[in-house]
Amino acid sequence: MSNEELLLKALSTVKYPGFSRDIVSFGLVRSATLESGTAKIQLAITTTDPQVPTELKGNVESILNEIDSVSNTEIEIAVSKPNSTKPSPADAAPATAQSLISGVKKIVAVASGKGGVGKSTFSVNLACAFDYVLTETQGSSAVGIMDCDVYGPSIPLMMGVRGRPTIEGESLVPVENLGIKTMSMGLLVDENTPVVWRGPMVNKTIQQFAQNVNWGNLDVLVVDLPPGTGDAQLSLAQNIPLDGAVVVTTPQEAAVSVTTRGAKMFEKVNIPIIGVAENMSYFLNPATGDKEYLFGSGGGEKAANALDTELLGNIPLDASIRQGGDMGIPIVKSSPDSESARAFYSIAKKIVQKLS
Ligand code: ADP
Repeated sequence: MSNEELLLKALSTVKYPGFSRDIVSFGLVRSATLESGTAKIQLAITTTDPQVPTELKGNVESILNEIDSVSNTEIEIAVSKPNSTKPSPADAAPATAQSLISGVKKIVAVASGKGGVGKSTFSVNLACAFDYVLTETQGSSAVGIMDCDVYGPSIPLMMGVRGRPTIEGESLVPVENLGIKTMSMGLLVDENTPVVWRGPMVNKTIQQFAQNVNWGNLDVLVVDLPPGTGDAQLSLAQNIPLDGAVVVTTPQEAAVSVTTRGAKMFEKVNIPIIGVAENMSYFLNPATGDKEYLFGSGGGEKAANALDTELLGNIPLDASIRQGGDMGIPIVKSSPDSESARAFYSIAKKIVQKLS
């Protein structure tokens, strides 16, 4: 094992304060060298909390001191401020993150505590609904969707997007269909190639997509986050000036508690929660016209209350929504007058109002 590997192995046991992930897999270690018994470590983090670098330094020092061949430590921590909410001039975005997506007016993340709640389905329909709302209010619209769900990039399929993104200069050009620009890991890797995605890949993807994709001018960019919490959010706060996050849940008790716990992560990285969207809220029985609450009810409201935000709307459990996803035409585009499409539209309208 080389000296660097030895140090990284030790550093991978140090957790980022307040998170369950370690500083190595978060990609926070810039360099780690060991010469004549002196371990030199450089870290780069993003935080406004002065406690974080202090705590981190102490933890790194004590781990390194456990290594026999280390007699001295020199730890440098470069601290930059998060850029997510632009809460004060002091927290302005670092030049790289801000300028590289400077043509993008608003960036909205879509998150869920766990997989399978319909986050990706929601994201594509939200993007299409933004397109309608903006065209209606300002006469034209430019919307993009960035699929950061590296564990199962389903956005290209749902948006009916095929083919590889082209490259212009040093930037990837998103693929456009249905009037929406799409970029996804799914467009860059062969779908038949099994890939073992690891945590650090999430960071890398988000960073690459934020810095190397030429989105052009966009009114709004929808960012579909990987399910779960932690690494992606921290990475986003470092790389993308998010305007806020929408949290998707189902009405079930189990989903609500995971959602609430997960969404608390946004507070840590200073990203405002725009609201909660409840998906699969009810099934509209075509025979009786009755709403049937198959997964229980009230979950979205509960999650919104717990997160001190509003319930933006309820989306029905509707076979047409699933079919739209499978066929690559979101229901908002294929049946804009349906009850389901109207639910997405109403949520998009609320978000546009809240952000403007
Ligand atoms: P996630 O991104 O949270 O993992 P998906 O968006 O992939 O979830 O949705 C999981 C499955 O549920 C997909 O087959 C999708 O078509 C279906 N689905 C999502 N929302 C609805 C809905 N409101 N009505 C019917 N099917 C839905």
